[in-house]
Amino acid sequence: MSDTEEANKVERRNERMRKDAKPSAVDPALCPICGKDNRCGNLKGMPQGTCWCFSTTFSEEIFNLIPDDRRGLACICQACVEESREKQKR
Ligand SMILES: [Zn+2]
Repeated sequence: MSDTEEANKVERRNERMRKDAKPSAVDPALCPICGKDNRCGNLKGMPQGTCWCFSTTFSEEIFNLIPDDRRGLACICQACVEESREKQKR
């Protein structure tokens, strides 16, 4: 067997391992609550602190809506933040 063949085999094995490692990987661009694009400015290469989320307050309640395995991995979208705020008013 040549070196190239051996390298290809290793590469294929690594690829399989990577896929197995995270079957339900969290997409940081999607809101963990509604699953829509959260339009986070940090992900789109905007300067730190310019995203809308820096000028809004996140309630305790909204974090409770996020499944444990997604908490801290993806941003909540603006629509969900506003929805939770509306609910609190009532
Ligand atoms: Zn959302």
